Amino acid sequence: MKVAYLSMEIGLTANIPTYSGGLGILAGDHIKSAADLNIPLVAVTLLYKRGYFIQSINPMGQQEEMYPYFDPRAFMEPLPFKVTIKIEGRDVHVGVWKHNQVGIKGRVPVYFLDTDLPINAPDDRLITQFLYGGDTHTRICQEAVLGIGGYLVLKRLEKGITTYHMNEGHAVFLTLALLKDEGGNEDKVREKCVFTTHTPVPAGHDKFDYAMAHEVLGPYLPSNIRKLAGNDLLNTTVLALNLSRAANGVSELHGEISRQMFPGFNIGHITNGVHHLTWTDPEFRTLYDKYVPQWRQNPQALAKIDHIPDEELKTAKYIAKKRLINYINSVSGAGFTEDLLTICFARRATAYKRATLIFSDLEYLFNLSFDRVQLIFAGKAHPQDLSGKDLIREIVNTSKQYENRIRLVFLPNYNIWSGALMTRGADVWLNTPRRPREASGTSGMKVCFNGGVNMSVLDGWWREACKNRVNGWAIGDDEDQDDDDAAADLYKNLDDLVTTYYSKPKQWLSIMRRSISDITPVFNTHRMVLDYLHKYYY
Ligand SMILES: *Cc1c(COP(=O)(O)O)cnc(C)c1O
Repeated sequence: MKVAYLSMEIGLTANIPTYSGGLGILAGDHIKSAADLNIPLVAVTLLYKRGYFIQSINPMGQQEEMYPYFDPRAFMEPLPFKVTIKIEGRDVHVGVWKHNQVGIKGRVPVYFLDTDLPINAPDDRLITQFLYGGDTHTRICQEAVLGIGGYLVLKRLEKGITTYHMNEGHAVFLTLALLKDEGGNEDKVREKCVFTTHTPVPAGHDKFDYAMAHEVLGPYLPSNIRKLAGNDLLNTTVLALNLSRAANGVSELHGEISRQMFPGFNIGHITNGVHHLTWTDPEFRTLYDKYVPQWRQNPQALAKIDHIPDEELKTAKYIAKKRLINYINSVSGAGFTEDLLTICFARRATAYKRATLIFSDLEYLFNLSFDRVQLIFAGKAHPQDLSGKDLIREIVNTSKQYENRIRLVFLPNYNIWSGALMTRGADVWLNTPRRPREASGTSGMKVCFNGGVNMSVLDGWWREACKNRVNGWAIGDDEDQDDDDAAADLYKNLDDLVTTYYSKPKQWLSIMRRSISDITPVFNTHRMVLDYLHKYYY
């Protein structure tokens, strides 16, 4: 058995800017757990030398984007060969960089594909330059490089692949290259491919005009492509579903929604996780090493933590939180303190995630929170998402306009580094998506490894993990809510949260413990990758 895992983005560390958010970080965590568990897996993605952007916020609260050049040489080796694919009838040469720092002796190699070669036409050199930066045409070219280029690279370097795992539809053109090699036998392709879908939002599924698809991918398209990929548009998800032996969503609810969106396909689910060793603060690592030493190999061991003394747990949380607060103060001058309840909200700034729901009744929030609650926000808006940028402006402007009535900071440039700092330091991790649009989410899982608690709408993974007021807080119940109802529930919970934190420390500690012992044993990528292994890789 040997698995090739293909993903449009892979996030391994903050230094390698080839990810934008959840999808890429999940891919990175998948790879890290596969390496730890000694599962034969190789990974393929694209090398974005101008990455995803670095965010700064100007004095007007406007997001600004910078695209500094990324030099890969410190992190990976160029391999001495290229593969060649046809795009619009031209030869496009694809170079390969090998990163082998994941796991012991680079057990899981990660191949980064790069068209920025002098031999290519200037436009073709730009194909792999920016992640999610281009138009539809750039996008289909990127997907051709990932799927078809990726397939050719694997054929050259990795013998004996038994399963191609397409992480999202972006890699689906792999099936077309494989189909050619299998002499047009669709069953043979299906035998080798599995597919994970990641979004319940229809616009999140890539669709291409057939005219464009024929122009770009001409020789790779089989004559029955409309039967395989949809009649009107080439739908990458439909193509992937048609040419995979198995498919899954990334939480139970997302599996259900996916079956409704794509009736007639057999779609299961494997709920996402996080790589425990990446996301646990050094203080908590030391604590777990002392009391639950098996946790590194087997995070399930964290189900039993009763013997960790209260004081040591509190101290670890205090230190992790202090690190976050010190950093916030150093960059903002906000004068935060580790003695106040600290609530964090960090995710992509886009409308359905409703970052500003907590500001729907400002007077209420001011009265409840001043001198009791500190709020830290972060998140990038996609450069073309104007309403996402408005959300950021609203948060930044609220923090300035009411600086004497609310303790609120927007921390620019949310990435793997600041994401770790925030998820390790937070007392409470807030999440208010419009259900059921959060396929899974993973940031809240990171918080649990660090003694923080979640307060979230029952969407994605949290719907499976939450025991309300036992291991965290639920906003609403197991139904879709409108914004007013969600805001009302959010405020009710905030009251309870503040009371519990300041007046019932024993209960707070108990919720903290249950956040660790109920949740971390399940919501980690070791469990997740083993689920993939047993259900889909064999
Ligand atoms: C974990 C993480 C994510 C994904 O978390 P969500 O809960 O899906 O938002 C996104 N960005 C960063 C920087 C992260 O660390």
